[in-house]
Amino acid sequence: MDQNQTVQGGRDGRQTDPREKEFNQRLRAAVAGDEYETWFAPSKLRFDKNEAVFTVPNHFFENWIKDRYQPLVDQALSAAAGGSIPVRFEVDSSSGGIGFEEGYRPAQSPPLRRASFNPRYRFSTFVVGHCNELAHAACRAVAENPGLQYNPLFIFGGAGLGKTHLLNAAGNHIQDNHPELTVHYSTTEDFTNELIKAVRFEGIHTFKERYRKLDCLLLDDIQFLAGRERTQEELFHTFNTLFESGKQIIVTSDKMPREIPALEKRLRTRFEWGLLADLQPPESETKVAILQKKASEKGLSLSKKVSFFLASQPESNVRVLEGYLTRLAAVSHFKGEELTIDLVRRILGPMVGDNHISVEDVLRIVAASFGVKVSDLKGARKTREVSQPRQVAMYLCRRLTTSSFPEIGRLMGGKDHSTVVKGVKKIKAQLLKDPELAARVQTVEKTLRERGGELEPGWVDG
Ligand code: ADP
Ligand code: MG
Repeated sequence: MDQNQTVQGGRDGRQTDPREKEFNQRLRAAVAGDEYETWFAPSKLRFDKNEAVFTVPNHFFENWIKDRYQPLVDQALSAAAGGSIPVRFEVDSSSGGIGFEEGYRPAQSPPLRRASFNPRYRFSTFVVGHCNELAHAACRAVAENPGLQYNPLFIFGGAGLGKTHLLNAAGNHIQDNHPELTVHYSTTEDFTNELIKAVRFEGIHTFKERYRKLDCLLLDDIQFLAGRERTQEELFHTFNTLFESGKQIIVTSDKMPREIPALEKRLRTRFEWGLLADLQPPESETKVAILQKKASEKGLSLSKKVSFFLASQPESNVRVLEGYLTRLAAVSHFKGEELTIDLVRRILGPMVGDNHISVEDVLRIVAASFGVKVSDLKGARKTREVSQPRQVAMYLCRRLTTSSFPEIGRLMGGKDHSTVVKGVKKIKAQLLKDPELAARVQTVEKTLRERGGELEPGWVDG
Protein backbone atom coordinates (compact mmCIF):
# COMPACT_ATOMS: atom_id res chain seq x y z
CA MET A 1 0.00 0.00 0.00
CA ASP A 2 1.44 3.31 -0.98
CA GLN A 3 -0.64 5.91 0.70
CA ASN A 4 1.46 8.82 -0.40
CA GLN A 5 1.41 8.01 -4.04
CA THR A 6 -2.34 7.72 -4.04
CA VAL A 7 -3.13 10.84 -2.18
CA GLN A 8 -0.45 13.12 -3.52
CA GLY A 9 -1.78 12.68 -7.03
CA GLY A 10 -0.01 12.37 -10.32
CA ARG A 11 -0.38 8.58 -10.30
CA ASP A 12 -2.71 8.65 -13.26
CA GLY A 13 -0.53 11.13 -15.11
CA ARG A 14 -3.27 13.73 -14.89
CA GLN A 15 -2.17 17.34 -15.44
CA THR A 16 -2.36 19.27 -12.21
CA ASP A 17 -5.14 21.82 -12.29
CA PRO A 18 -3.68 25.26 -11.37
CA ARG A 19 -6.61 25.69 -8.98
CA GLU A 20 -5.41 22.67 -7.04
CA LYS A 21 -1.99 24.20 -6.67
CA GLU A 22 -3.53 27.49 -5.59
CA PHE A 23 -5.73 25.65 -3.10
CA ASN A 24 -2.79 23.78 -1.61
CA GLN A 25 -0.75 26.95 -1.30
CA ARG A 26 -3.56 28.80 0.40
CA LEU A 27 -4.28 26.00 2.76
CA ARG A 28 -0.62 25.66 3.59
CA ALA A 29 -0.49 29.35 4.39
CA ALA A 30 -3.60 29.14 6.53
CA VAL A 31 -2.78 25.96 8.41
CA ALA A 32 0.45 25.84 10.33
CA GLY A 33 3.26 23.45 9.50
CA ASP A 34 2.90 20.41 11.67
CA GLU A 35 -0.84 20.46 11.54
CA TYR A 36 -0.82 20.69 7.77
CA GLU A 37 1.56 17.75 7.55
CA THR A 38 -0.63 15.73 9.83
CA TRP A 39 -4.02 16.33 8.27
CA PHE A 40 -3.59 17.65 4.77
CA ALA A 41 -0.41 16.14 3.38
CA PRO A 42 -2.05 12.68 3.27
CA SER A 43 -5.17 14.15 1.63
CA LYS A 44 -5.73 15.38 -1.89
CA LEU A 45 -8.11 17.74 -3.57
CA ARG A 46 -9.28 17.61 -7.15
CA PHE A 47 -11.80 19.66 -9.09
CA ASP A 48 -14.54 17.70 -10.72
CA LYS A 49 -17.21 19.45 -12.80
CA ASN A 50 -19.12 21.61 -10.32
CA GLU A 51 -17.62 20.34 -7.14
CA ALA A 52 -14.36 19.76 -5.42
CA VAL A 53 -13.55 16.29 -4.21
CA PHE A 54 -11.37 15.88 -1.16
CA THR A 55 -9.82 12.44 -0.94
CA VAL A 56 -8.81 11.49 2.58
CA PRO A 57 -7.31 8.28 3.98
CA ASN A 58 -10.30 7.45 6.18
CA HIS A 59 -13.40 8.74 7.92
CA PHE A 60 -11.43 9.84 10.93
CA PHE A 61 -9.64 12.37 8.71
CA GLU A 62 -12.91 13.40 7.16
CA ASN A 63 -14.50 14.15 10.52
CA TRP A 64 -11.46 15.81 11.94
CA ILE A 65 -11.07 18.08 8.92
CA LYS A 66 -14.77 18.91 8.84
CA ASP A 67 -14.82 19.69 12.54
CA ARG A 68 -11.81 21.87 12.66
CA TYR A 69 -10.84 23.10 9.26
CA GLN A 70 -14.02 23.37 7.23
CA PRO A 71 -14.02 27.21 7.14
CA LEU A 72 -10.36 27.28 6.10
CA VAL A 73 -10.93 24.65 3.45
CA ASP A 74 -13.94 26.56 2.14
CA GLN A 75 -12.00 29.79 2.11
CA ALA A 76 -9.01 28.34 0.29
CA LEU A 77 -11.34 26.63 -2.11
CA SER A 78 -13.40 29.64 -3.02
CA ALA A 79 -10.26 31.75 -3.39
CA ALA A 80 -8.73 29.13 -5.68
CA ALA A 81 -11.89 28.54 -7.68
CA GLY A 82 -12.85 32.20 -7.77
CA GLY A 83 -16.19 31.62 -6.11
CA SER A 84 -17.81 29.28 -3.70
CA ILE A 85 -17.96 25.66 -4.72
CA PRO A 86 -19.24 22.64 -2.79
CA VAL A 87 -16.78 20.11 -1.47
CA ARG A 88 -17.40 16.39 -1.18
CA PHE A 89 -15.25 14.05 0.88
CA GLU A 90 -14.20 10.72 -0.46
CA VAL A 91 -12.33 8.02 1.40
CA ASP A 92 -9.42 6.63 -0.54
CA SER A 93 -10.14 2.92 -0.50
CA SER A 94 -6.67 2.03 -1.78
CA SER A 95 -5.18 3.31 1.44
CA GLY A 96 -6.84 0.37 3.15
CA GLY A 97 -8.58 2.74 5.49
CA ILE A 98 -5.45 2.92 7.60
CA GLY A 99 -5.87 5.69 10.04
CA PHE A 100 -5.39 7.27 13.36
CA GLU A 101 -7.60 4.87 15.22
CA GLU A 102 -6.00 1.82 13.66
CA GLY A 103 -2.52 3.01 14.39
CA TYR A 104 -1.89 5.65 11.77
CA ARG A 105 0.86 7.75 13.18
CA PRO A 106 0.77 11.35 12.19
CA ALA A 107 3.99 13.06 11.19
CA GLN A 108 6.33 13.35 14.14
CA SER A 109 6.33 16.73 15.81
CA PRO A 110 9.22 18.66 14.40
CA PRO A 111 11.94 19.73 16.77
CA LEU A 112 10.82 23.11 18.00
CA ARG A 113 14.04 24.81 17.05
CA ARG A 114 13.34 24.38 13.35
CA ALA A 115 12.49 27.60 11.51
CA SER A 116 8.78 27.21 11.01
CA PHE A 117 7.95 30.79 10.11
CA ASN A 118 6.39 31.77 6.87
CA PRO A 119 9.25 33.47 4.99
CA ARG A 120 6.86 35.84 3.20
CA TYR A 121 5.53 37.27 6.44
CA ARG A 122 8.06 39.86 7.48
CA PHE A 123 7.92 43.35 8.89
CA SER A 124 9.24 44.58 5.56
CA THR A 125 6.25 43.12 3.73
CA PHE A 126 3.71 44.47 6.21
CA VAL A 127 2.00 47.75 5.31
CA VAL A 128 1.52 50.02 8.30
CA GLY A 129 -1.45 52.36 8.59
CA HIS A 130 -3.60 53.84 11.35
CA CYS A 131 -5.49 50.59 11.52
CA ASN A 132 -2.55 48.51 12.66
CA GLU A 133 0.22 50.82 13.85
CA LEU A 134 0.02 49.94 17.53
CA ALA A 135 0.05 46.20 16.95
CA HIS A 136 2.88 46.57 14.46
CA ALA A 137 4.96 48.77 16.76
CA ALA A 138 4.41 46.49 19.73
CA CYS A 139 5.41 43.41 17.73
CA ARG A 140 8.53 45.12 16.49
CA ALA A 141 9.51 46.26 19.96
CA VAL A 142 9.02 42.78 21.32
CA ALA A 143 10.94 41.22 18.44
CA GLU A 144 13.87 43.58 19.06
CA ASN A 145 14.04 42.76 22.76
CA PRO A 146 12.08 39.64 23.57
CA GLY A 147 10.92 39.31 27.15
CA LEU A 148 11.69 42.86 28.18
CA GLN A 149 8.62 44.82 27.20
CA TYR A 150 4.96 44.03 26.75
CA ASN A 151 4.78 40.54 28.11
CA PRO A 152 2.53 38.92 27.12
CA LEU A 153 1.64 40.78 23.95
CA PHE A 154 -1.93 40.10 22.95
CA ILE A 155 -2.89 40.98 19.37
CA PHE A 156 -6.51 40.84 18.39
CA GLY A 157 -8.49 41.63 15.25
CA GLY A 158 -10.84 40.21 12.63
CA ALA A 159 -10.07 37.64 9.97
CA GLY A 160 -7.48 38.55 7.39
CA LEU A 161 -6.22 41.68 9.14
CA GLY A 162 -2.66 40.47 9.58
CA LYS A 163 -2.44 38.62 12.92
CA THR A 164 -0.61 35.62 11.53
CA HIS A 165 1.54 37.87 9.37
CA LEU A 166 2.70 39.92 12.36
CA LEU A 167 3.31 36.89 14.50
CA ASN A 168 5.49 35.32 11.83
CA ALA A 169 7.24 38.61 11.22
CA ALA A 170 8.15 38.72 14.90
CA GLY A 171 9.34 35.11 14.68
CA ASN A 172 11.45 35.74 11.60
CA HIS A 173 12.93 38.84 13.15
CA ILE A 174 13.84 37.16 16.41
CA GLN A 175 15.32 34.20 14.63
CA ASP A 176 17.42 36.41 12.35
CA ASN A 177 18.66 38.67 15.11
CA HIS A 178 18.83 36.36 18.09
CA PRO A 179 19.85 32.99 16.70
CA GLU A 180 20.65 31.85 20.23
CA LEU A 181 16.96 32.00 21.21
CA THR A 182 14.50 29.18 20.72
CA VAL A 183 11.39 30.65 19.19
CA HIS A 184 8.34 28.64 18.42
CA TYR A 185 5.25 29.51 16.44
CA SER A 186 2.20 27.40 16.89
CA THR A 187 -1.45 27.77 16.17
CA THR A 188 -3.77 26.86 18.98
CA GLU A 189 -4.86 23.96 16.79
CA ASP A 190 -1.25 22.81 16.57
CA PHE A 191 -0.84 23.13 20.24
CA THR A 192 -3.98 21.11 20.87
CA ASN A 193 -3.10 18.46 18.29
CA GLU A 194 0.34 18.09 19.74
CA LEU A 195 -1.07 17.77 23.17
CA ILE A 196 -3.43 15.04 21.99
CA LYS A 197 -0.60 13.24 20.24
CA ALA A 198 1.60 13.58 23.30
CA VAL A 199 -1.08 12.10 25.48
CA ARG A 200 -1.58 9.23 23.04
CA PHE A 201 1.92 8.40 21.98
CA GLU A 202 4.87 10.02 23.62
CA GLY A 203 3.72 10.96 27.05
CA ILE A 204 2.78 14.35 28.34
CA HIS A 205 6.18 14.88 29.89
CA THR A 206 7.92 15.31 26.53
CA PHE A 207 5.35 17.87 25.55
CA LYS A 208 5.78 19.88 28.73
CA GLU A 209 9.56 19.79 28.40
CA ARG A 210 9.46 20.98 24.86
CA TYR A 211 7.23 23.96 25.48
CA ARG A 212 8.58 25.04 28.78
CA LYS A 213 12.13 25.27 27.46
CA LEU A 214 11.28 27.91 24.87
CA ASP A 215 12.56 31.47 24.89
CA CYS A 216 9.62 32.80 22.90
CA LEU A 217 6.24 31.27 22.36
CA LEU A 218 4.09 32.68 19.57
CA LEU A 219 0.60 31.26 19.79
CA ASP A 220 -1.86 32.05 17.03
CA ASP A 221 -5.66 32.11 17.20
CA ILE A 222 -6.17 31.43 20.86
CA GLN A 223 -9.91 32.01 20.46
CA PHE A 224 -9.89 28.29 19.67
CA LEU A 225 -9.15 27.62 23.30
CA ALA A 226 -12.85 28.18 23.86
CA GLY A 227 -14.21 25.21 25.73
CA ARG A 228 -10.99 23.17 25.57
CA GLU A 229 -10.31 22.62 29.20
CA ARG A 230 -7.38 20.26 28.93
CA THR A 231 -5.58 22.54 26.49
CA GLN A 232 -6.25 25.59 28.65
CA GLU A 233 -4.89 23.81 31.66
CA GLU A 234 -1.68 22.88 29.89
CA LEU A 235 -1.29 26.34 28.40
CA PHE A 236 -1.79 27.89 31.81
CA HIS A 237 1.16 25.98 33.22
CA THR A 238 3.30 26.63 30.16
CA PHE A 239 2.44 30.30 30.40
CA ASN A 240 3.44 30.51 34.04
CA THR A 241 6.72 28.73 33.54
CA LEU A 242 7.68 30.93 30.62
CA PHE A 243 6.43 34.15 32.13
CA GLU A 244 8.15 33.63 35.44
CA SER A 245 11.48 33.13 33.74
CA GLY A 246 11.06 36.26 31.66
CA LYS A 247 10.39 34.50 28.38
CA GLN A 248 8.37 36.27 25.71
CA ILE A 249 4.84 35.26 24.89
CA ILE A 250 2.82 36.68 22.01
CA VAL A 251 -0.69 35.49 21.34
CA THR A 252 -3.30 36.45 18.78
CA SER A 253 -7.03 36.11 18.80
CA ASP A 254 -9.99 37.35 16.84
CA LYS A 255 -11.52 38.60 20.10
CA MET A 256 -10.43 40.36 23.24
CA PRO A 257 -9.67 38.00 26.12
CA ARG A 258 -12.88 38.75 27.93
CA GLU A 259 -14.94 38.05 24.81
CA ILE A 260 -13.57 34.55 24.31
CA PRO A 261 -16.29 32.22 25.51
CA ALA A 262 -15.44 29.63 28.12
CA LEU A 263 -11.94 30.91 28.67
CA GLU A 264 -10.82 30.21 32.21
CA LYS A 265 -10.52 33.31 34.28
CA ARG A 266 -6.95 32.57 35.33
CA LEU A 267 -5.84 32.45 31.71
CA ARG A 268 -7.83 35.52 30.80
CA THR A 269 -6.24 37.60 33.53
CA ARG A 270 -2.82 36.47 32.41
CA PHE A 271 -3.51 37.54 28.87
CA GLU A 272 -4.61 40.89 30.22
CA TRP A 273 -1.42 41.44 32.19
CA GLY A 274 0.50 42.61 29.18
CA LEU A 275 -0.32 44.84 26.27
CA LEU A 276 -3.51 44.40 24.27
CA ALA A 277 -3.11 45.73 20.73
CA ASP A 278 -5.85 45.69 18.15
CA LEU A 279 -5.89 45.39 14.37
CA GLN A 280 -8.67 47.35 12.70
CA PRO A 281 -9.87 46.98 9.12
CA PRO A 282 -7.59 49.01 6.85
CA GLU A 283 -8.72 52.47 5.83
CA SER A 284 -8.78 53.13 2.11
CA GLU A 285 -5.24 54.56 1.86
CA THR A 286 -3.81 51.54 3.61
CA LYS A 287 -5.88 49.23 1.44
CA VAL A 288 -4.45 50.90 -1.66
CA ALA A 289 -0.91 50.53 -0.33
CA ILE A 290 -1.48 46.88 0.55
CA LEU A 291 -3.02 46.14 -2.85
CA GLN A 292 -0.11 47.73 -4.65
CA LYS A 293 2.45 45.89 -2.58
CA LYS A 294 0.73 42.55 -3.10
CA ALA A 295 0.26 43.23 -6.81
CA SER A 296 3.93 43.97 -7.28
CA GLU A 297 4.80 40.80 -5.37
CA LYS A 298 2.67 38.94 -7.89
CA GLY A 299 4.21 40.78 -10.84
CA LEU A 300 0.85 42.33 -11.62
CA SER A 301 0.77 45.92 -12.76
CA LEU A 302 -2.08 47.70 -11.05
CA SER A 303 -2.93 51.25 -12.02
CA LYS A 304 -3.80 53.81 -9.37
CA LYS A 305 -7.33 53.89 -10.66
CA VAL A 306 -7.82 50.17 -10.36
CA SER A 307 -6.27 50.08 -6.87
CA PHE A 308 -8.64 52.82 -5.75
CA PHE A 309 -11.56 50.99 -7.26
CA LEU A 310 -10.64 47.80 -5.43
CA ALA A 311 -9.97 49.71 -2.23
CA SER A 312 -13.42 51.27 -2.42
CA GLN A 313 -14.99 47.84 -2.10
CA PRO A 314 -16.39 47.18 1.34
CA GLU A 315 -14.25 44.07 1.68
CA SER A 316 -11.55 44.65 4.26
CA ASN A 317 -10.26 41.13 4.76
CA VAL A 318 -6.82 41.41 3.17
CA ARG A 319 -6.82 37.72 2.39
CA VAL A 320 -9.93 38.17 0.26
CA LEU A 321 -8.46 41.22 -1.46
CA GLU A 322 -5.40 39.14 -2.26
CA GLY A 323 -7.73 36.53 -3.72
CA TYR A 324 -9.09 39.17 -6.07
CA LEU A 325 -5.55 40.01 -7.15
CA THR A 326 -4.70 36.37 -7.80
CA ARG A 327 -7.71 36.09 -10.04
CA LEU A 328 -6.97 39.36 -11.81
CA ALA A 329 -3.36 38.32 -12.36
CA ALA A 330 -4.42 34.99 -13.83
CA VAL A 331 -7.05 36.36 -16.19
CA SER A 332 -5.13 39.42 -17.33
CA HIS A 333 -2.11 37.25 -18.00
CA PHE A 334 -4.23 34.79 -19.91
CA LYS A 335 -6.02 37.45 -21.92
CA GLY A 336 -2.94 39.60 -22.36
CA GLU A 337 -5.12 42.64 -21.71
CA GLU A 338 -4.33 45.67 -19.64
CA LEU A 339 -6.27 45.76 -16.38
CA THR A 340 -8.90 48.47 -16.63
CA ILE A 341 -11.79 49.00 -14.26
CA ASP A 342 -14.07 47.52 -16.87
CA LEU A 343 -12.00 44.39 -17.11
CA VAL A 344 -11.86 44.17 -13.32
CA ARG A 345 -15.63 44.40 -13.15
CA ARG A 346 -15.91 41.67 -15.74
CA ILE A 347 -13.42 39.41 -14.02
CA LEU A 348 -14.59 39.88 -10.47
CA GLY A 349 -18.22 40.37 -11.37
CA PRO A 350 -20.23 38.95 -8.50
CA MET A 351 -17.35 39.30 -6.06
CA VAL A 352 -17.26 43.07 -6.15
CA GLY A 353 -20.70 43.31 -4.71
CA ASP A 354 -23.00 46.24 -5.26
CA ASN A 355 -24.17 46.17 -1.65
CA HIS A 356 -21.60 48.92 -1.32
CA ILE A 357 -23.38 51.82 -3.04
CA SER A 358 -26.48 50.87 -4.99
CA VAL A 359 -28.13 52.58 -7.95
CA GLU A 360 -31.04 53.40 -5.63
CA ASP A 361 -28.66 55.11 -3.21
CA VAL A 362 -27.26 57.24 -6.00
CA LEU A 363 -30.71 58.21 -7.25
CA ARG A 364 -31.86 59.19 -3.79
CA ILE A 365 -28.88 61.36 -2.97
CA VAL A 366 -28.70 62.98 -6.42
CA ALA A 367 -32.42 63.77 -6.30
CA ALA A 368 -32.09 65.36 -2.87
CA SER A 369 -29.07 67.37 -3.86
CA PHE A 370 -30.54 68.71 -7.12
CA GLY A 371 -34.01 69.26 -5.69
CA VAL A 372 -35.80 66.85 -8.02
CA LYS A 373 -37.72 63.65 -7.41
CA VAL A 374 -36.36 60.14 -7.87
CA SER A 375 -39.25 59.57 -10.27
CA ASP A 376 -37.97 62.50 -12.36
CA LEU A 377 -34.61 60.81 -12.64
CA LYS A 378 -36.26 57.59 -13.69
CA GLY A 379 -38.66 59.38 -16.00
CA ALA A 380 -38.23 60.53 -19.58
CA ARG A 381 -38.86 64.27 -19.31
CA LYS A 382 -36.18 66.14 -21.25
CA THR A 383 -36.15 69.58 -19.60
CA ARG A 384 -32.76 70.73 -18.42
CA GLU A 385 -33.75 70.73 -14.70
CA VAL A 386 -34.21 67.00 -14.79
CA SER A 387 -32.00 65.85 -17.62
CA GLN A 388 -28.79 67.14 -16.09
CA PRO A 389 -29.34 65.54 -12.66
CA ARG A 390 -30.40 62.38 -14.49
CA GLN A 391 -27.10 62.28 -16.36
CA VAL A 392 -25.21 63.04 -13.17
CA ALA A 393 -26.96 60.06 -11.62
CA MET A 394 -25.92 57.86 -14.55
CA TYR A 395 -22.36 59.08 -14.23
CA LEU A 396 -22.22 58.44 -10.49
CA CYS A 397 -23.87 55.05 -10.84
CA ARG A 398 -21.18 54.08 -13.28
CA ARG A 399 -18.46 55.47 -11.06
CA LEU A 400 -19.59 54.26 -7.66
CA THR A 401 -21.63 51.13 -8.18
CA THR A 402 -20.63 47.90 -9.81
CA SER A 403 -23.64 47.92 -12.14
CA SER A 404 -23.13 47.69 -15.88
CA PHE A 405 -24.55 50.20 -18.37
CA PRO A 406 -27.57 48.03 -19.23
CA GLU A 407 -28.29 47.41 -15.57
CA ILE A 408 -28.14 51.11 -14.72
CA GLY A 409 -30.51 51.79 -17.61
CA ARG A 410 -32.90 49.15 -16.37
CA LEU A 411 -32.85 50.45 -12.80
CA MET A 412 -33.33 54.01 -14.00
CA GLY A 413 -36.77 53.43 -15.39
CA GLY A 414 -35.98 51.01 -18.19
CA LYS A 415 -33.66 53.12 -20.29
CA ASP A 416 -31.61 51.78 -23.12
CA HIS A 417 -27.96 51.17 -22.29
CA SER A 418 -26.86 53.54 -25.06
CA THR A 419 -28.79 56.33 -23.33
CA VAL A 420 -26.73 55.71 -20.21
CA VAL A 421 -23.50 55.61 -22.19
CA LYS A 422 -24.37 58.95 -23.82
CA GLY A 423 -25.42 60.53 -20.51
CA VAL A 424 -22.19 59.54 -18.80
CA LYS A 425 -20.14 60.84 -21.69
CA LYS A 426 -21.97 64.14 -21.70
CA ILE A 427 -21.46 64.75 -17.98
CA LYS A 428 -17.81 63.82 -18.21
CA ALA A 429 -17.36 66.52 -20.83
CA GLN A 430 -19.34 69.06 -18.83
CA LEU A 431 -17.38 68.37 -15.66
CA LEU A 432 -14.24 69.50 -17.44
CA LYS A 433 -15.81 72.79 -18.47
CA ASP A 434 -18.09 73.60 -15.58
CA PRO A 435 -16.35 73.90 -12.20
CA GLU A 436 -19.59 74.65 -10.39
CA LEU A 437 -21.14 71.42 -11.60
CA ALA A 438 -17.92 69.58 -10.83
CA ALA A 439 -17.97 70.84 -7.24
CA ARG A 440 -21.57 69.83 -6.87
CA VAL A 441 -21.01 66.35 -8.22
CA GLN A 442 -18.03 65.98 -5.97
CA THR A 443 -20.13 66.84 -2.93
CA VAL A 444 -22.74 64.28 -3.92
CA GLU A 445 -20.07 61.68 -4.40
CA LYS A 446 -18.58 62.47 -1.02
CA THR A 447 -21.99 62.17 0.64
CA LEU A 448 -22.56 58.84 -1.02
CA ARG A 449 -19.19 57.47 -0.01
CA GLU A 450 -19.49 58.67 3.54
CA ARG A 451 -23.06 57.61 3.92
CA GLY A 452 -22.03 53.97 4.01
CA GLY A 453 -19.01 54.91 6.07
CA GLU A 454 -17.06 52.39 4.01
CA LEU A 455 -14.12 54.65 3.48
CA GLU A 456 -13.97 55.99 6.97
CA PRO A 457 -11.33 54.49 9.25
CA GLY A 458 -12.55 52.29 12.01
CA TRP A 459 -15.69 50.93 10.47
CA VAL A 460 -16.43 47.38 11.39
CA ASP A 461 -16.61 44.56 8.91
CA GLY A 462 -20.21 43.47 8.49
P1 ADP B 1 -5.21 36.88 10.10
O1 ADP B 1 -4.20 35.96 10.71
O2 ADP B 1 -5.45 38.10 10.92
O3 ADP B 1 -6.48 36.22 9.70
P2 ADP B 1 -3.21 37.04 8.05
O4 ADP B 1 -2.05 37.49 8.84
O5 ADP B 1 -3.24 35.60 7.66
O6 ADP B 1 -4.58 37.43 8.76
O7 ADP B 1 -3.32 37.95 6.75
C1 ADP B 1 -4.02 37.54 5.60
C2 ADP B 1 -3.26 37.98 4.37
O8 ADP B 1 -3.28 39.38 4.32
C3 ADP B 1 -1.81 37.57 4.42
O9 ADP B 1 -1.39 37.21 3.13
C4 ADP B 1 -1.09 38.83 4.87
O10 ADP B 1 0.20 38.92 4.30
C5 ADP B 1 -1.98 39.91 4.31
N1 ADP B 1 -1.99 41.15 5.11
C6 ADP B 1 -2.82 41.49 6.11
N2 ADP B 1 -2.53 42.71 6.58
C7 ADP B 1 -1.49 43.15 5.86
C8 ADP B 1 -0.71 44.36 5.86
N3 ADP B 1 -0.98 45.37 6.71
N4 ADP B 1 0.29 44.46 4.98
C9 ADP B 1 0.58 43.47 4.12
N5 ADP B 1 -0.12 42.32 4.06
C10 ADP B 1 -1.13 42.15 4.91
MG1 MG C 1 -4.33 33.95 11.15
